[in-house]
Amino acid sequence: MPGDPDLQLRGRLIRSLGSLRDMLPGSLVERQRACGRPTCHCADGKNLHTQFQISVLVDGKPKAFHVPAKLVEQVRQQVAMRGRFDAAAATVCGINLRRFLKQKEEP
Ligand SMILES: [Zn+2]
Repeated sequence: MPGDPDLQLRGRLIRSLGSLRDMLPGSLVERQRACGRPTCHCADGKNLHTQFQISVLVDGKPKAFHVPAKLVEQVRQQVAMRGRFDAAAATVCGINLRRFLKQKEEP
């Protein structure tokens, strides 16, 4: 069935996965913190430093890794790739489940 829209969608999704090869796990978290230097602008407790971390499970344990400012946008996109990968996998699995259930009914 070359015209099957499910198969067309499945093929399109699978072919798109290569573009997500740089995906990263976890989530990008923004944190506000004081650096502790008494003369810094953050010492008033209001003008805090913004820092980014990638928060991720490693071997089932939560870890947080500092993300340097120059890599924040890149990491944001890489984390978003994981979401697109998961969404594509869920759609492909849904198509395949439908196909399996239909296949079972065939004589
Ligand atoms: Zn500071």
